[in-house]
Amino acid sequence: MNILVTNDDGIHAAGIRALAEAMAELGTVTVVAPDRERSAAGHSLTLHSPLRIFELHKGWYAVDGTPTDCVNMGIHNMLPVTPGLVVSGINHGANLGDDVTYSGTVAAAMEANLMGIPAIAFSLATLEPSIHFTDAARIAVQVARQVIANGIPPDTFLNVNIPDCPQDKMLPPLITRQGKRSFIGKIVDKTDPRGRKYFWVGSEELQLNDEPGTDFHAINRQHVSVTPLHLDLTNHKSLSILAKWTF
Ligand code: MN
Repeated sequence: MNILVTNDDGIHAAGIRALAEAMAELGTVTVVAPDRERSAAGHSLTLHSPLRIFELHKGWYAVDGTPTDCVNMGIHNMLPVTPGLVVSGINHGANLGDDVTYSGTVAAAMEANLMGIPAIAFSLATLEPSIHFTDAARIAVQVARQVIANGIPPDTFLNVNIPDCPQDKMLPPLITRQGKRSFIGKIVDKTDPRGRKYFWVGSEELQLNDEPGTDFHAINRQHVSVTPLHLDLTNHKSLSILAKWTF
């Protein structure tokens, strides 16, 4: 099997090295990843500038684009055959609840899913420096083996979050639903050395709704969380309510 590996932390991140090395036991691995960190790139495409490919060493290609660009380039321009599996990560930082919509890691898997290719996003649930990427990569292989053996339902890809601990301390994977977070978004507001104001996004307090069955709940209890996602953002429950509107 051909496996395409990508991420949003950039091709030099520890997480992608661990993931690519571990996936090699399941097939032929090609790495196509952003040449620098593109976290929170979401599902963006590069439309207004050309893309270039840099071969770092055999089977490892950096692209000066987004994770979504990398999946597109990998599948359309670089791999000799369509891969049987696309894996993204291992992201340094969780991708839980509503945050999946910002995530370049998750978007890469989403892009592969759009092309009908089984895809999995992996994230290590810590922002602290971590020594557990190889432990997380062992879990990634286990999940990938399940996907290869059983397939995944149509229009579905997996968002896997892994606790930051040695493999023998992790609790078994739970199939979860996407949780919700209460947004206490903070934008830092300061003045630069030339006296101009600047703003910096991202220093928010994370408030999680710790409901049983959710990805948050699983990770908070040191379980691996496996959430099946799909791209249909329709709120199906609201269809019948809006159908009563008269235009
Ligand atoms: Mn990232």
